[in-house]
Amino acid sequence: MVRAEAISKSFGSNEVLKSISLEVKRGEVLCMVGPSGSGKSTFLRCINHLETINAGRLWVDGSLVGYRQRGDKIYEMNPREAAKQRRDIGMVFQRFNLFPHMTALENVMAAPTLLRKGSRAQLKQRAKDLLDRVGLADRGDYYPAHLSGGQQQRVAIARALAMEPKLMLFDEPTSALDPELVGEVLDVMQGLAESGMTMVVVTHEMGFAREVADSLVFMDGGVVIESGDPREVLLNPQRERTKAFLSKVL
Ligand code: ADP
Ligand code: MG
Repeated sequence: MVRAEAISKSFGSNEVLKSISLEVKRGEVLCMVGPSGSGKSTFLRCINHLETINAGRLWVDGSLVGYRQRGDKIYEMNPREAAKQRRDIGMVFQRFNLFPHMTALENVMAAPTLLRKGSRAQLKQRAKDLLDRVGLADRGDYYPAHLSGGQQQRVAIARALAMEPKLMLFDEPTSALDPELVGEVLDVMQGLAESGMTMVVVTHEMGFAREVADSLVFMDGGVVIESGDPREVLLNPQRERTKAFLSKVL
């Protein structure tokens, strides 16, 4: 579903991704961990066509998103194709980013309505089903301001699912939540993983990584320092930088 081969990304002279290679197979969950500024969000943004790469090759769902080689071939997916692919990728951010003037149900219905993905009655029913799936069947008529952070984040997940994505990207989805609300969001994400969704999750929740992820990548300074089975990496990190990071977050 995602394959990065030696991809690099710079902002000016600041190289924030340095030859990153990794793979996420269909139905798998990859967790990315690492200190702030290590390039995790930038990597997700490259997958989601919000940034273009400067070197390497990146495939999403079998399509070549970007291919750069200095002085040689330059390939970049055309904007229309990229926009089409972006609709198949759901993204959930640290901040819930719900539309404040819309109810939970309207938030979930917004994108499919815009893209005329069905009749109003069909879309409404689907949105209700999705709210039910994230445990919010009784909150459809609430505005975001009247929902807790955990509930808002679950609406954000339902809203992303409304586009029937084939890949879900999560960028520190629980980092802005009060500790007692983290579990309800992680539970929804675990359910999603168990339903077979392919997911890339940037998180500091090592319990989630250990229980749910198929693989774990530790990044620092734009480099993959260590990767592998989450239980192995967490229990028996091989690199000093991984050990130092884990000793702070575990
Ligand atoms: P992380 O998500 O791991 O905290 P980021 O991917 O957000 O890291 O950032 C990695 C580095 O890239 C940081 O040094 C950040 O300042 C820089 N960066 C991110 N986005 C931009 C941008 N749009 N323009 C310039 N620098 C950026
Ligand atoms: Mg980030």
